[in-house]
Amino acid sequence: MLQSYFYVYSIMTLEKGDDMKSIFPRINNTTLDIKKNTRVISLINELKVKGILPIEELKYIIENISQNECQELFYIANMVKEKYYKKKVYLRALIEVSNYCKQGCFYCGINRDNKSIKRYRLSSSQIFDSVKNAYNLGYRTFVLQGGDDPLLSDEFIADILIKIKNIYPDTRITLSLGEKSQESYDKLKIAGADRYLLRHETASFKHYMHLHPRDMFYDNRIKCLHYLRGSKYQVGTGMMIGSPFQTSDSLVSDLMFLYKFQPEMIGIGPFIHHHDTPFKDYSDGGLYETLVMVALARIIVPKALIPATTALGSIISGGRELALKAGANVLMPNLGPEDKRELYSIYDNKITISDSDNEFKTKLENKLIKEGHIVDYSVGDHIDLEGVK
Ligand code: SAM
Repeated sequence: MLQSYFYVYSIMTLEKGDDMKSIFPRINNTTLDIKKNTRVISLINELKVKGILPIEELKYIIENISQNECQELFYIANMVKEKYYKKKVYLRALIEVSNYCKQGCFYCGINRDNKSIKRYRLSSSQIFDSVKNAYNLGYRTFVLQGGDDPLLSDEFIADILIKIKNIYPDTRITLSLGEKSQESYDKLKIAGADRYLLRHETASFKHYMHLHPRDMFYDNRIKCLHYLRGSKYQVGTGMMIGSPFQTSDSLVSDLMFLYKFQPEMIGIGPFIHHHDTPFKDYSDGGLYETLVMVALARIIVPKALIPATTALGSIISGGRELALKAGANVLMPNLGPEDKRELYSIYDNKITISDSDNEFKTKLENKLIKEGHIVDYSVGDHIDLEGVK
């Protein structure tokens, strides 16, 4: 009852924001507009040299970039990536541990109000078996991701972390389990977690309110990122591109936020609608819009680990490969139990792996090598932290 109140209240108080066409009005354009083309190119080059630009200039890039300058932007972003990470693509094993969630994010298919999905929570032995399988395939980073599931207690997670690190000390564990207290983050860090992914989702307070019910707080999300820093994690944040009510101003705020926070990891993917959410009728984020933001993020936070996200591969086949040419340097294939992969349905048409893990691994490696990448299964820390542990 309370939850539907939050939902109705939030939706009723909103006015519709810009859609992708008005945020990136020239993105699908190939015709030349010499004045705009030249200015965008010069701003991109200035961004590379200075690391950041004034708000108005970032906004100019977003609102005026066309296909012509995209290629230049992607080329520069790729050069920046190669300066620090060469041609390496780090492989991480993603294990989706639970689709229970106490949060009501309007965009997310596993939000608490979706009564139509079948919920699951992996047992500790299922999680450990997935880790073992991934380790035997060569993976040295395991990403345990899930909804904000209250039954995944600190003790439950800590026990698994301790077990993994005891048996496989030569590995890294990334958690992505949502908002917690400083004490909880500390406990999990001490138990063996190394990294934590918590997308800020949007750096605009107004936009945040459009995406979330009234019992979720922008300030808390940001506070959690600072807690994570305080607990000495390698911290990842990021946002969806094309989420409802996003504007070029909110995207510029995202870039400024990334610049100020300098996260070790940045996850950027397109918003994709889910048929059982309040945002079911909104259009999905676009490929080029997402690639532009990945590339800008790479230039603004040059040493970040940036995944080519599953969402990008879900809106278009080959989307992730394009991101790997536009500044991304991480891939996170799903290595959780096969019968659970479809249940982690945060958006419609999410790609799942149909090959066996081994077949998939060989195909993926061949594809990456063919495209000029170096496949890297090592722990793949942020470059400033290599050899620290
Ligand atoms: N509960 C954790 C949290 O809040 O960070 C992790 C799980 S959450 C499902 C992981 C990410 O999925 C979110 O940060 C969000 O950006 C992304 N996501 C959720 N719904 C999405 C959608 N409809 N389209 C694209 N990405 C989505």
